Order: sequence, then C-alpha cells, then structure tokens
Amino acid sequence: MSNAELKNEIPSLVSRLIQLPSVNPPGYTINVASFIRDWLSERGFTSETKEYAKDKPNVIARVGRGRPVLILNGHMDVVPPGDESRWVYPPFSGKIVEGRVYGRGATDMKGGLAVIMMVFAELAPLIERQGSGTLIFSATADEETGGHPGVEALVREDALIGDAAVVAEPSGSSRYYIGEKGLCQVKIVTRGRPAHGSLPVLGENAIMKLTRAITRAEELINEFNKGIKLPSELVNAIRNSAEVYLEAARASGLNLTLSDFEGVVGTVSFNPGVIRGGSKINMVPDYAELELDMRIPPGVSPNQVINHLRSGLCGAADVEVLDTSEPNYTSPSDTIVRLIHEGIEKTLGSTPKPIIVTGATDGRYLRARGIPTVVYGPGELALAHAYNEYVTVDDLVKTHDVMLYTIKRFFGIPA
Ligand SMILES: [Zn+2]
Repeated sequence: MSNAELKNEIPSLVSRLIQLPSVNPPGYTINVASFIRDWLSERGFTSETKEYAKDKPNVIARVGRGRPVLILNGHMDVVPPGDESRWVYPPFSGKIVEGRVYGRGATDMKGGLAVIMMVFAELAPLIERQGSGTLIFSATADEETGGHPGVEALVREDALIGDAAVVAEPSGSSRYYIGEKGLCQVKIVTRGRPAHGSLPVLGENAIMKLTRAITRAEELINEFNKGIKLPSELVNAIRNSAEVYLEAARASGLNLTLSDFEGVVGTVSFNPGVIRGGSKINMVPDYAELELDMRIPPGVSPNQVINHLRSGLCGAADVEVLDTSEPNYTSPSDTIVRLIHEGIEKTLGSTPKPIIVTGATDGRYLRARGIPTVVYGPGELALAHAYNEYVTVDDLVKTHDVMLYTIKRFFGIPA
C-alpha cells in the first residue's frame, strides 16, 4: 500500500474503532471484536473467538504455518472518558483534524490496534508464500483491569503462544519498551488498646504506632534500595527511561532532576496510598492501617521486599500482602528487540531508545511464559487516559512502517 493510501486508511480505521466504545469497567469488547472479525473476513481471513468472561471476547487470526511464530497483540478495551464536557471533540467521535485522530483510546490503544490489523493484512500473502513461519494477530480484552480474561487466560490455555511478540501499546515511534517494573502492594497494620481519649495513658494508640511504622518502613526501603544490583544489560534502558519521565515532568512545569527519575525507575518506589484508623475523636484507637504501593525494578522480587519490611519492623506492625507481580524484561540483545531497534534506525533514520516503564502491560504474561516481548506502537504515554486523547497520523504511519520492516526481517523476507 502506498504511503498516501496509508495516510487515509489507518486513521480512518482508528476512527472507526474509537466509535465503538469499549469502556472498562465494564470492559465489554463484543462490538469491537465483531467489527474486527468482519474486517478480517472481508479480507479473506478466518479468525477465532475466545471468551473467558461474558461479553469480553478475544479475537485471534493466524497466517502461514510452522515456526517461527510471531504474535502481534493489542487490547480492545479503553478507560472511561471522564467528564465529557472537558473534551474538545466528543470522546467517541473519532474526529480526524489536522493530522490527528481524537478520542478515547486513540493512543491507548486503538491506534496500535489499527496498525497491527493493517500490518497483518498486508504481510499475510508474503508470509503464506514464504512457506515457513506463522504470524498471529490478537485483539484482546480487559487489559485496563488486569488482563485476566484476556492475555493471561489466552497464554494459560495455550491459545496465544509464540517465539516472540510485539505488543502495540503506545511507546511512540522512536522508542520501544523492553521491560516493566513489578508490583508490591501491602497493608501495614498496627493494633493498640482502646481507652477514653481524656486518659490516653491507659490505652495504646494504634495511629501513633502506625505513623512510627510508616517512617520506619520508608527508612527500610531506602536501605533496601542501596543494596539493589540492577541487571547490567538494563543500565542504559533505565537511564533512557529516566530521561523520558524527566522530559514529561519538565513539560508540565515540575522542577525535578534526572537522578530523581533514575531513582524512581531503578529502585523500589514508596507510595503510602490509603490510611485508615480510629473511630471517634475521644477514643484511643486500637486499630490503624496503611495501604502501601511499591513498584519494584527488574532484578528484585516482591518477596525480598516483603521479607525486608517484616524483619525490619520487628513485630511493631503486621505486613499483609495485597497484590504482587514480578518485574519483567526481555534482553536488549534478543532477536525481536534488535529487529525493532534496527527497524526504527533503518525506516525512520533515528537512534531509538529502549525503555523500562513503571506501569504494567499485558506483555508481562507473555514474558512470564518465556516469550520474548517488545512493546512498540503509536501514541504517547502522556496522552493515554488523558482528556482530548489523540494519536498523530504521522506516528501511525511511522510505527506501521517500522513494524513492516521488523516483521519481514523476522521471517527472513527481504525488507
Ligand atoms: Zn494500553
């Protein structure tokens, strides 16, 4: 397809996908999935539907045969639009103006979904002719609330297995993500003895115990962070990520430094998110709790952090585990990562940057299954989940071209 045709075709596909709201919660993907199935079938492709939660189907299509198997993945659900009056164009209009497609999901990630649909359809005949190798297209459900009936279930049921994967979440055309931090969310609980508020000496104040425990927990995490050894192959990616976050912070007027962000990406972050305790002003509280969100870098496991907190708090507070996930990454020297890197260099003429992100994508389920995974797609992280979300036509076409190059090279087709 010529570049001029692409400049019309891809944005109008993004626009049509935006016009089918798939807001999560509840995250129903029936309408988007049926549009995608029809789109594929009009082009002669058969697809399978896999549904692990009611009205949240996933769509999978394949071309070619045998190995290697390359997975293209994008999620169909989007976050809620929020206050619709704050949108310049209605959030589900898919309005195309001055080189941008506007709407909820433009960046995260109906833009990326449209790009992988096009790439799949364009490369299918070449891959069929090549004789060896399978390209899988997958449009999945529920990423915005954890991906359980989406990529997680598909990987568990062996419905989405391959030798490499590209997840088209918004990295922007000149960057790609090779890893993400893990999650360690705990509750810190303190207990005391109730008494009348006028005679606190008779009681034991759980809120005071909790404030001391929070201060101690922060010290413990700082101490833990001094001992972290990051995987040496990730040092560059961590610096790049810090630069990207710094750039975004400066753009919104915050006066922070590179080392502030190197700290955030390469260490365990510490965010007390919710605090509860006490029931009445004139009582000594006998219970208090803190919900603490920590994001952990590659090379660290949530259990190490939990054990360090528990032993350091020495019984002054209980540490209950709320949710954890392992940090994960694909080596910068892995084939699919090298090919995306090369694709950006050759197609766009720029030197790309591998990044580690602080939040999670469905890529973690693929990596957990041993599938090397790179995240690369149109859009900007800062626009995801924002008002007046958009994706530029320029970024759609660029990421399309890079993917075309990468996938051809992956299958040994002259690029
Ligand atoms: Zn997303």
